[in-house]
Amino acid sequence: MPIIVQKYGGTSVGGIEKIRNVAKRVIESYNEGNKMVVVLSAMAGQTDGLIKLAHEMTEDPDLRELDVLMSTGEQVSVALFAMAVKSMGYDACSLLGFQVGIHTDQLYGKARIHEIDTRRILKELEKNRITTVAGFQGLDSRGNITTLGRGGSDTTAVALAAALNADICEIFTDVDGVYTTDPNVCPKARKMDKISYDEMLEMASLGAKVLEIRSVEFAKKYNVPIHVRSTFSRERGTMVVAETRDMEKVLVSGVAFNKNEARITIRKVPDRPGIAVKIFEPVFKAGIVVDMIVQNTSEEGITDLTFTVPKPDFYKTMKLVGSVAEEVGAEKVLGDEDIAKISIIGVGMRTHAGVAQKMFGTLAKENINIIMISTSEIKVSCVIEEKYTELAVRVLHEAFGLEGEPSEDH
Ligand code: ADP
Ligand code: ASP
Ligand code: MG
Repeated sequence: MPIIVQKYGGTSVGGIEKIRNVAKRVIESYNEGNKMVVVLSAMAGQTDGLIKLAHEMTEDPDLRELDVLMSTGEQVSVALFAMAVKSMGYDACSLLGFQVGIHTDQLYGKARIHEIDTRRILKELEKNRITTVAGFQGLDSRGNITTLGRGGSDTTAVALAAALNADICEIFTDVDGVYTTDPNVCPKARKMDKISYDEMLEMASLGAKVLEIRSVEFAKKYNVPIHVRSTFSRERGTMVVAETRDMEKVLVSGVAFNKNEARITIRKVPDRPGIAVKIFEPVFKAGIVVDMIVQNTSEEGITDLTFTVPKPDFYKTMKLVGSVAEEVGAEKVLGDEDIAKISIIGVGMRTHAGVAQKMFGTLAKENINIIMISTSEIKVSCVIEEKYTELAVRVLHEAFGLEGEPSEDH
C-alpha cells in the first residue's frame, strides 16, 4: 500500500473548523487506499504568541526552555486533529517528535535532523491508523526537546517521507503552488507546474518561505517528490522534482526577496592574514549564519569588510564583532537593518550570459541603488534599501517576462 506524507501549515489548521476540514481531506486520501502520515504545524499565530510570552517573561529566554515552550503549539494541533479523525469514525494516533524518535543535534532553535526511527510510525500504520506527527520538533542525544527553526514542519514532513520511503510528500498551504514570485506581493505572479530542486533550493534560501530550505535539501538528497498545493482547493499545485532538460530553456524562473537580513560593516580593518578568521570565529561559534561577505580592495593595508546576517541575530552579532573589531584595531562597526535582498533565479543562467546586466539595468532605471551583489551559477542577488523591495520585485518580474503564459513547458 502506498504511503503518503501530507503536511498542513499554520493557516490550514488555524481553527476548529479548519482542522475538521483537514481531517476530511486526509480521510479521503486514506479511503483511496493510502497509508497516511500527517505532519501538522501549530495553529496560525501560535508559535509567534509563544515566543512573545517567553520574551515577556525574560529579555533573553533560555534556549532549552524556549524549545520546550515553542514545541507545544504543534502538540495542540496533532491532538485536535486526531480527535477530529476519531470523531468521524476512523482510527488515528498523534505522536510528538520524541515519541517517533526524530533525532536531532543539540542546536536549540535550529536543530538538524540526524536520524528518524520509523518503527513506531510503521506499527501505527500497520494497525490502519491515520498517524499524525507534530512538526518542527525533535529530540537531542541527551534527551532534550529541540526545534528545527521557523517553518520547520516542512522539514519534518520531507524527512519523514524520505525515511518512510513514501510515494509523495504533499505540502498543503495557503497558496496553490510555487509562483514565479510571492503572489501576495506581486499579483501578476504565475503558478509553475514544476520547479527543479536546485531552483527551489535557491528560492527558499533567498526568502521564498513557501518551502523551508532544509526540506528542499532533504528532498533533493533523497529524491523525494514534493507537491506544493492549496488546502482550500482541489487544484493541482507545483511539483518540485529533479531537473529536466527543458527547464534550461527558461532563463529566469523566479524572483525572491528577503527582508530578514541585516548588514554589518567593519570600517578600516587591517588587511593581513588571519583577520577574517578572527572576526568570524565567534560569530560562527554562536551558530549564526553569515550570508553575503564583501571585502573591499585594500588601500595601504586597510580595508572594509561587509556582511549580512539574519535580523534576529543582528544585535548579538554586533556585540560579538564589536569586541573583536576593537581587538584587531578596526575603526568602527556600522549596522543597517533596513535592507532587503532581491534575487533572480533560474537554471537557464548556466548557459545564458547577460542576465546580471539586465537585472542591474532594470534596478537602475527605477533609481534603486545596489548596495551589495552576489552571484552563483543559477542566481543573482542584490542588496537594496528595504523600502524599494516591492517595486524591485515587480519591475524584475516584468523585465524577465515572468507574467502571463510561460514560453516553454515550465
Ligand atoms: P504555511 O503556514 O502553510 O507553512 P507559509 O506562510 O510558511 O505557509 O508559506 C506560504 C507563503 O509563502 C504564501 O502565503 C506566500 O506569501 C509565501 N511565498 C513567498 N514566495 C512564494 C512563492 N514564490 N510562491 C508561493 N508562495 C510564496
Ligand atoms: N510552527 C512553526 C513556525 O511557526 C513551524 C512551522 O509552522 O512550520 O515556525
Ligand atoms: Mg511554512
